[in-house]
Amino acid sequence: MDFAYSEREEGFRRELRGWLARNLPEHRKQFPPSDDELTFHPDKSFDASLAWHKRLHAGGWVGIHWPKEFGGRGASLLEQMIFAEEMIGAGGPPGVNMIGLTMVGPAVIRHGTEEQKARWLPPILSADEIWCQGFSEPGAGSDLANLSTHAVLEGNHFVVSGQKVWTSNAHRSHSCILLVRTDPQAPKHKGISCLLVDMKSPGMTVRPLVQITGDAEFNEVFFDQVRVPKANLLGALNGGWDVAITVLMHERMAIGNTVILHQYINRVLELARRWPRDGGVASADPVLRQALAQVYIEGRALRLTGLRYITRQLRGEAPGPEGSVLKLAFTDTYKKMAEAATQILGPAHQLWRGAPGAADGGRWAFQALFALRFGIAGGTTEIQKNIVGERILGLPKG
Ligand SMILES: Cc1cc2nc3c(=O)[nH]c(=O)nc-3n(C[C@H](O)[C@H](O)[C@H](O)COP(=O)(O)OP(=O)(O)OC[C@H]3O[C@@H](n4cnc5c(N)ncnc54)[C@H](O)[C@@H]3O)c2cc1C
Repeated sequence: MDFAYSEREEGFRRELRGWLARNLPEHRKQFPPSDDELTFHPDKSFDASLAWHKRLHAGGWVGIHWPKEFGGRGASLLEQMIFAEEMIGAGGPPGVNMIGLTMVGPAVIRHGTEEQKARWLPPILSADEIWCQGFSEPGAGSDLANLSTHAVLEGNHFVVSGQKVWTSNAHRSHSCILLVRTDPQAPKHKGISCLLVDMKSPGMTVRPLVQITGDAEFNEVFFDQVRVPKANLLGALNGGWDVAITVLMHERMAIGNTVILHQYINRVLELARRWPRDGGVASADPVLRQALAQVYIEGRALRLTGLRYITRQLRGEAPGPEGSVLKLAFTDTYKKMAEAATQILGPAHQLWRGAPGAADGGRWAFQALFALRFGIAGGTTEIQKNIVGERILGLPKG
C-alpha cells in the first residue's frame, strides 16, 4: 500500500490547516483553560460547541464524507484520514449532532425517499436540528428486537405509545429516530418500523437521568398517544430492523472513531511529562513508562486497524461486523488511557471539578468515570464479542 499523499491531498491538508489556524484560537477564547470541552458537551459547554459546529459548517468541514449532492464535501477516504490527523494534531474539538451526522444521516441516505433526504439532511449538517436515538427500552437493550413501544396507523398518522430509556441528548434534541412495533403478531424482527419524530410532538415527556459523572446527558422518554405523520416512516413498514442495523453499524464505527481518544492520549503523555514525582516528573518512573507506552502502542495499533476498514469502504460497502472489533479495542484503550492518568496523579486523581488543586480542572477524575460508558453504549462488550465470535470467526451461537 502506498501511504504517500498526492498533491491534491496535500492541498486539502494545507486548506484545513489554514482554516484551523484562523478559527481555532478564536473558538478557544470561549473556554477557560481548565474546561474539558472534548467531553461530549456537558450542558455548560454545549452553546460554545454549537458555535464551533456552525463555524465548521460555514467552512464546509461538517459531514465531509457525505456525498456533495447531500451537502457534504464528498471527501475521499484519504482526505477523511487527513482531516482526522489534523484534528488530532491541532486538538480541534468535535462539533455537535454526532447522532445526526454519524447515524441518522447515513440511514436517511440509505433508506430514505428523495423527499425525506431533501427534508432531513441539510439541518443535520447545519445542526439546526439536533437528533437523538430512541432505540433502547427498559425491556430491550442488548435484545433490541424485544422492544414494545408500539405505533398504530390511523389515517395519515402513526399513534405512538410506550417508553424509551438512555436516550442521549433527548433534552436538547429537535428530532428522534425511533424504533416502534407496528406488527405485534409478526416475528420480533419483522414487526418493527422506524419513525422520524419531532421532539415537540404533543404527548412526549423527557425526563433526565443523572449518570455516575454527575451530568445528565441521557433521558427517559415517554410517548402517550403521540401522532407522527405517515410521511416520517423511514424504510418500509415493518422493515425497521434493516434501518436499525444500518444505524447500529454506523454507531459502532462512530464510537470506534479514535480522534478524541488520540487527543486524550496526547494529553496523558503531556501530563506525565509535567506532573511531579520523586523529585522529578512522572514520565521518568519506569513502571509508569510501561503503562504509558502500552497506551501509546494500542492507540497506534487502533489507528492502523482503522485503515483496514478502508478496503471495505473503497468497495462502497456499509460498515460490517468489523465495527465491533474497532469498538472493543477502542473501549479497552480508552479505559487504559484514563487509568494511566489515575496512576500518574495517584490519590490526587480523585479531585473533582472545582476542587482546589484538582489537576487540569478535575478532567482526570471525570475521565476515569466517563470511560466506563463505552463498554455499554452502542452495544455492550459482551454483545460485541458475540458478534465477533459468530460473524467474523464463524463460531457456533452461544
Ligand atoms: C452512555 C450511554 C449512552 C446511551 N445512549 C443511548 C441512546 O442515545 N439511545 C439508545 O437507544 N440507547 C442508548 N444507550 C443504551 C445502550 O445501547 C444499552 O444500554 C445497551 O445496548 C445495553 O442494554 P441494557 O442497558 O438494556 O443492558 P442489558 O441488555 O440488560 O444487559 C445487561 C448485561 O447482560 C449482558 N448480556 C445481555 N445479553 C447477553 C448475551 N446474549 N450474551 C452475553 N451477555 C449478555 C450485557 O452485556 C450486560 O452486561 C446508551 C447507553 C449508555 C451507557
